Amino acid sequence: MIDYENKVNPIARDLKPSGIRKFFDIAVSRKNCISLGVGEPDFVTPEAFRNAGIASIQNGKTQYTANVGLQELRYAISRYMHNFIGVDYNPHDSIMLTVGGSEGLDLAIRSLCRPGDEFLIPDPSFVSYAPLVSLTGATPIPIKTDAEHKFKVTPEELEKVITPKTKGVILPFPNNPTGAVMTKEDLAKIVPIILKHDIFVISDEIYAELQYNNVKFTSIASFPDMYERTVIVSGFSKAFAMTGWRLGYICAPKELLNLMYKIHQYGIMCAPTASQYCALAALETSFQNGFAEVTYMREKYDERRRYLVDRLNAMGLTCFEPEGAFYAFPCVKSTGMDGEQFAYALLDAKNVAVVPGIAFGESGKDFVRISYAYSVEAIKKAMDLIEEFLKELKK
Ligand code: PMP
Repeated sequence: MIDYENKVNPIARDLKPSGIRKFFDIAVSRKNCISLGVGEPDFVTPEAFRNAGIASIQNGKTQYTANVGLQELRYAISRYMHNFIGVDYNPHDSIMLTVGGSEGLDLAIRSLCRPGDEFLIPDPSFVSYAPLVSLTGATPIPIKTDAEHKFKVTPEELEKVITPKTKGVILPFPNNPTGAVMTKEDLAKIVPIILKHDIFVISDEIYAELQYNNVKFTSIASFPDMYERTVIVSGFSKAFAMTGWRLGYICAPKELLNLMYKIHQYGIMCAPTASQYCALAALETSFQNGFAEVTYMREKYDERRRYLVDRLNAMGLTCFEPEGAFYAFPCVKSTGMDGEQFAYALLDAKNVAVVPGIAFGESGKDFVRISYAYSVEAIKKAMDLIEEFLKELKK
């Protein structure tokens, strides 16, 4: 018998399974469960995009691409970043295609963190940041965010957790799970702190196209002196409805991109070829039609967002207005339960699944994450059931 427990990498052994998965394994085992839990678009990849992926296979484009990805696609991303965030990335040495934003995050973290370093992560945030930091031997350090400050990173909270060991900070806005955004003015308050302490930024911009209320997206890389210390991780999964194609990209100064390129070259080779053709069509079509598909989906999310947030607040589950991504993050404290108790009780009583906020960090303890990447009918049905559940609790 092999003594796996003591022979394997202890960091991998001690990683906790994702809190989203743990909950969903229970939810999917139940019949007719209405789930508002999944963090991916309910839209199928728009036809013009997916046909290009299919055609590439039929035309025999089934080999590897360059390690960094198709040149035409890197040019298209460069043009897109210029137009969208006003930052110029050289397609030859500063852009690389990855296997989803997920690989981009892993590469960025692995190329920056050394054992003993500290890396700052807003709490609550997406589940993968802290484990990826831990895997490098560095320590993930939470930055507290709260509903009172609309779950933004404030200069005070950021300053509090910086030490001489701090290597960098992840800025994941629009945020999963809170829907919080950081505007240009919000970012302007934290940029001087980042520069003063000479730390790096990993800017997770996977939801950048999904901002509402006419709040324009600003990338921290566009601030003076920030380009050289920022890695942008982004991708096609969310705004272009392409989760299953597994395609993301990184934009970074060439010195950093070269590090990530080496890890990617040995670990991955290249992002999926058909997916790169699909993404190329997504950008080319969007340049031609003014991002019609992305705009259509964003408008649908916005309708659902407004409906969901109004319903939650009307039934007494206080919900600050999320201005990005496709999640609402209501507080459930008024029920006398924390987020985890609430999610289990709701699943038991009404067969509706939402995700306990604690899955995203300690500051999410009294909250649940509700995704609105579902049809209005599904959201309405779930809201009616949650309302019934709350009434029955009061009896
Ligand atoms: N960042 C955030 C904040 C996410 O929510 C996700 C997916 N849920 C990712 C990155 C990774 O996305 P993908 O690998 O599908 O591009």
